[in-house]
Amino acid sequence: MIDGFGRAIDYLRISVTDRCNLRCVYCMPPQGVEWIEHGDMLSYEEIIRLCRCFAQVGIRRVRLTGGEPLARRDLHRLVAGIRAIPGMDSVALTTNGVLLKEQLPGLLAAGLTAVNLSLDTLDRAQYAAITRQDVLPQALEGLYAALDAPGLRVKLNCVPMGDNDGQLVPLAGLAREQNLAVRFIELMPIGLGGELPRRTEAEVRTILESALGPMTPCGGVFGAGPGHYFTLPGFQGKIGFISAMTHQFCDGCNRVRLTATGFLKTCLQYETGADLRILLRDGSKDEVLLETIRTAIRQKPSRHHFNDQTGRQGDERHNMHQIGG
Ligand code: SAM
Ligand code: SF4
Repeated sequence: MIDGFGRAIDYLRISVTDRCNLRCVYCMPPQGVEWIEHGDMLSYEEIIRLCRCFAQVGIRRVRLTGGEPLARRDLHRLVAGIRAIPGMDSVALTTNGVLLKEQLPGLLAAGLTAVNLSLDTLDRAQYAAITRQDVLPQALEGLYAALDAPGLRVKLNCVPMGDNDGQLVPLAGLAREQNLAVRFIELMPIGLGGELPRRTEAEVRTILESALGPMTPCGGVFGAGPGHYFTLPGFQGKIGFISAMTHQFCDGCNRVRLTATGFLKTCLQYETGADLRILLRDGSKDEVLLETIRTAIRQKPSRHHFNDQTGRQGDERHNMHQIGG
């Protein structure tokens, strides 16, 4: 459907859990957090019912995220349930990859269409420092299993923070031999992300181009999101940037988010939206859910104000593992 600012909303990111097997420095405090009770999270049946409603208002693509979505049991059941809904063309996954290798066959059989894997470094000690878990080999096994899966679209997401400057060229280099999109995501001041150093797209481009040569913008649209992409000579894959801080892309925003507790979040920065769980659990009919979803999407904020010092009222107070990124 079209929101109040004329944008076509066809993409839903669903956080299936706030739990995670890692503790990335920009996402979770070292001591961990108090998890949401299982009973407070939506069941797969509840998520699938909501997805049927979302399909009716024009959502065509879903991404499962978290926390770590693969930390929730039998995720393939949810993938299959959503893929069975008429109009849902794609179900993708954003994951740290650590549990991916073992779960991938079931997910593919259920109809998974794409995987974005988060990886900020290829250096084992640095990976352990960033994620607070020494599991780089498992994450890489997940990445290579995904790259070997016929027909699966794979992207890699890296958050440049200064500390990992020396890893940006090796990470980009993964796109040389593989049909992989390696994307650099500007750290956003959400939760712990507000307290860390960050690199801008321009800074990352300078680092990459000085080692790999000039990058050429890709023509056409690639993916459903806000990324823009470049090619490099001799590369099979692409280099992408998601630059919420220096290249605001709110005018073309096509997405809404559903949290693990069933809150429909219409902008990453704000807490505005609608509590759908309460309606699911008080016996409301689909018409009520549909009208609530339509009203929330119509009221989707026009843009984020991450770069403003004013207008921060109603800002998101949660960390990314609670929102889904
Ligand atoms: N656990 C999964 C993963 O790491 O891919 C899915 C959830 S994670 C919250 C989704 C994405 O958000 C990851 O790529 C992570 O790097 C990114 N992320 C987390 N905090 C961020 C922040 N403050 N700014 C930008 N990206 C962030
Ligand atoms: Fe977990 Fe992903 Fe957050 Fe890292 S970014 S702590 S993997 S949810």
